[in-house]
Amino acid sequence: MLNKIKELEKLARPLEPLPAERDHLFSKVKKYTDNFLEKIYDSPAFVTTEDKGIGLYDSPISETPIDIDQALNLIEYNVDRPGLNPASGGHLGYIPGGGIPHSAYGDFLAAITNRYSGVFFAGPGAVRMENMLLDWMAEIIGYPKGSVGNLTSGGSVANLIGIVTARDAHNLKAKDLEKSVIYLSEQVHHSVDKAIRIGGLKECIIRYVPLDKRYRMQAEVLEPTILADKQAGLNPWLVVASAGTTDTGAVDPLKEIGDIAERQDLWFHIDGAYGAFFILCDEAQEILQGMETSDSIVMDPHKGLFLPYGSGALLVKDRQKLLDTHYYMPNYLQDTLNSRDELSPADLSPELTKHFRGLRLWLPLKLLGLAPFRACLEEKIWLARYFYEKVQEIGFEVGPYPDLSVVTYRYIPKHGDVNEFNQKLVQEIHKDGRIFISSTIIDDNITLRLAALAFRTHLNTIDLTLEILKERVKFLERAD
Ligand SMILES: *Cc1c(COP(=O)(O)O)cnc(C)c1O
Repeated sequence: MLNKIKELEKLARPLEPLPAERDHLFSKVKKYTDNFLEKIYDSPAFVTTEDKGIGLYDSPISETPIDIDQALNLIEYNVDRPGLNPASGGHLGYIPGGGIPHSAYGDFLAAITNRYSGVFFAGPGAVRMENMLLDWMAEIIGYPKGSVGNLTSGGSVANLIGIVTARDAHNLKAKDLEKSVIYLSEQVHHSVDKAIRIGGLKECIIRYVPLDKRYRMQAEVLEPTILADKQAGLNPWLVVASAGTTDTGAVDPLKEIGDIAERQDLWFHIDGAYGAFFILCDEAQEILQGMETSDSIVMDPHKGLFLPYGSGALLVKDRQKLLDTHYYMPNYLQDTLNSRDELSPADLSPELTKHFRGLRLWLPLKLLGLAPFRACLEEKIWLARYFYEKVQEIGFEVGPYPDLSVVTYRYIPKHGDVNEFNQKLVQEIHKDGRIFISSTIIDDNITLRLAALAFRTHLNTIDLTLEILKERVKFLERAD
């Protein structure tokens, strides 16, 4: 038996690289990422390829190791080349993020030391770090002390945790669902629809509150609708608003909705995955007023704080409600009972063992301070306003003046179908690839979107975008 054990130990040896091997691997990875970053301002934002990374399958997972050069080549060709380049400042579609390098160093530290951030007993410092970040977020939103939250993988999971917490806070039982009403705006993010379904709430009545001309929920319609529903014997219990919709960047009238939710005893959940962090800049204070009136709110550091993907957050004002849905004490964790100075993430989310997400957020905030984050967010607001003006000068029709940093616009060609033209235009821009914009459908119209939120997006990116739009329109009109 001893021989067997020793033999296995020898075979497992490569899992622990020696210093020379560590240096070798690290220097190769560093060289690769240095090269990536040196070229990032000239790299395309979108690359169309035939193969779409299929070459990965030519190197299956097997008994045979490959060396780091081969591995990096596989990554470069199959992963980092095709498709969207979210690290590029030219990423102006969807809701961009970017991926500040400081965060990667935080991830590197977290991965090597592998602290356990799920339970306070195991990783007291790691848990304190995460709780401290959540306290800071609660403070900037205007939530009272004692609010709690969870660092999630992203906004979708944060929405899910918020919705199921609301469900239990209102003590919704299966037999009540068909009479229970949820109020959403038509522009609510689809992750909220998913959360409703995953949370077992799809039998609820969903009322889509109509929007005004700026795609914001009409609060004045909300209250009479709730009252009529109550009159009809239904159970209104949840309203979800957005602090910045993905599609048009609209901020719902949060204060008004919050007041109605309070009066009518509804849980008020805000999806601020895109917009909530704009509260850091003066320019957005007014439009974001009322976030503090919600019961729960989602914010995405991998959007609004430019972190690499994998960082969302949920905040809940009433800590007991988040605990009621997520707390559990299994027998095998009984040793943790004497060490409970702080709430543990495992008691506040579906996760137990999890990525130590705090460090990737704490390190950049500490190394840089808040000023550059505030400036970068405010720069995006002004870039959107600049684009809004300039794109009209080159003949585009625009949607509403941007609430935050999303602009909707489309081109009306001299002849032919407007939708078809704009669809072709967005395809042309994807083919070109220097920048990336996306399209959406608003009131049956194919509409182009520009979302400025990547930290590498600057004035020259927007000027380049305008130039490309102008040039492609000219090309398509000539081809017509
Ligand atoms: C991006 C986004 C989400 C989803 O967040 P993920 O981090 O992608 O899971 C939810 N709501 C809004 C408004 C968003 O912009």
